[in-house]
Amino acid sequence: MFIDRDSFTPFEKKVFLATPKMHGEELEYIKDAFDKNWITTAGDNVNELEKAAASYIGCKYAVALATGTASLHLAIKLAGERLYRGGRAGASLFGKKVFCSDMTFDATVNPVVYEGGTPVFIDTEYDTWNMDPVSLRKAFEIFTEVKLVVLANLYGTPAKLTEIRKICDEHGALLIEDAAESLGASLNGKMTGTFGDYNIISFNGNKIITGSAGGMLLTESLEDADKARKLSTQAREDAPWYQHEELGYNYRISNIIAGIVRGQFKHLDEHIAQKKAIYERYREGFKDLPVSMNPFDEKNSSPNYWLSCILIDKDAMCEQVRGEKKALYRPEKGKSCPTEILNTLSSLNAEGRPIWKPMHMQPIYRNSPFVNKDGWARAKSNAYIDEGQVSDVGMDIFDRGLCLPSDINMDPTDQEKVIEIVKSCFR
Ligand SMILES: *Cc1c(COP(=O)(O)O)cnc(C)c1O
Repeated sequence: MFIDRDSFTPFEKKVFLATPKMHGEELEYIKDAFDKNWITTAGDNVNELEKAAASYIGCKYAVALATGTASLHLAIKLAGERLYRGGRAGASLFGKKVFCSDMTFDATVNPVVYEGGTPVFIDTEYDTWNMDPVSLRKAFEIFTEVKLVVLANLYGTPAKLTEIRKICDEHGALLIEDAAESLGASLNGKMTGTFGDYNIISFNGNKIITGSAGGMLLTESLEDADKARKLSTQAREDAPWYQHEELGYNYRISNIIAGIVRGQFKHLDEHIAQKKAIYERYREGFKDLPVSMNPFDEKNSSPNYWLSCILIDKDAMCEQVRGEKKALYRPEKGKSCPTEILNTLSSLNAEGRPIWKPMHMQPIYRNSPFVNKDGWARAKSNAYIDEGQVSDVGMDIFDRGLCLPSDINMDPTDQEKVIEIVKSCFR
C-alpha cells in the first residue's frame, strides 16, 4: 500500500507521547483522605503507598516524596554523606566527581550538582541505550578517586545492571539507580530500583503510573529510610520544639497525591502490558523499514516499554544538522531523519520527541568530563566525532533516534496511522 505524505489528514484528537490513564480507585483514595481530613503530608495513603511499592518492587523500604528529582537529591545526599563523612551538611559531595549516565533526562544529573559534585559523563552502549560498562571501567582507570555512580534506565529498559553493579563493587563505589522511567521493569527477574545502594522512582505526569507528581526513594537500610523521612520534613529533631541540627528540605509527598498513586499502583501491570502492545505494533509495522526499535536483552530483561523509540539505519539517514536550538534537514528519496519525522508527526497533530540530548552535549555541562569506550575524555570539536575519529554512542543515538507516540490512551487505529506516516517519510 502506498500512502503519499500529502494525503494524510491531521489527527482530529491530538496523539500524545504519553498521558496519564486514571481508573477510578484514585478518586476513592482521595475521598478517603478528605473524609478523614488528612490533607497533609501524612496519612493512610502515604503509609499504604509505601507498603504497596516496597512489596511490588521487592525492597525493604520505600519513602514517598514530592518528586523523583527530590528523591534523587536525597539519595545522592545520603550517599555523599556515607562516602565522605565530614562533608559539608549543605553539599555532601563538595568538590567530588561522580560518574553519571550521559544520555538521560537532566534530572538524573542536576542533584549531583545540588550537592556540590561534578558529574563525569559515561558514554552509552547500543544494546540497551544505557550506561556503557566498558566506558565505566575506563572512567575508573582515569578517575581512580571516584566512589559514586548515578545510572538511569532509559525509556523503561534495564541497563546492564549486573555488570555495572559488579564494576561498582570492584571499586568500592556506591550505585544510585534512577528507575524513574523503568518502574516495573526487571532484569533476570529482579526489579529495577533494587540494584543500587539507593534507588528512586517517579510518578511525574507522563510516567507509566502517575500521581500528577510524586516520587520515591527505595532502600534496604532502615537507617537511610528514616534519615530520608527526616530530611524530607525539614530535619526536625526529636524535641518538644522545632529543634534543628542539620539542613532540612520540604520534600514529603502529599497524602492526596499519594492517594492517586495508590490507586494507580493496582494498574501498573496493565499499563505495562498496554505499553508492550504499542511497542510490538511498532516493531511489526516497521519491519520493512531501515529502522530498529529501542533494544533490550530479549532473553533476560523485561522492560516496562515506557516509550517506544526508533533508530534509523546510518545509510537511511538524509542530511540533518542540529545547532543549539534549531535543526535543518535535506529531504532525500528513500531516506529520512528524526527532524523530518518529528516535523511531519507534529504537522499532523501527533507528538514525538527527540532522544534525550546527551548531557555532555548540553551547554550547562559542557565543562564536565566525558568518558567513552576508548577512555577518551572529551572531543575538542564535534568534527572529530562527525568524521568518526571519536566514538560517541550517545551523540549517534541522539542523531538517528526518536521517541514515537507511546500513549496508552492512543487508539490502535491511530497508531496504525502513525506507522504509515513514519513510513511515508522514507519514500
Ligand atoms: C522523570 C525523570 C526524573 C524526575 O522525576 P520527577 O518526578 O519529574 O522529578 C528523573 N530521572 C529520569 C530519568 C526521569 O525520566
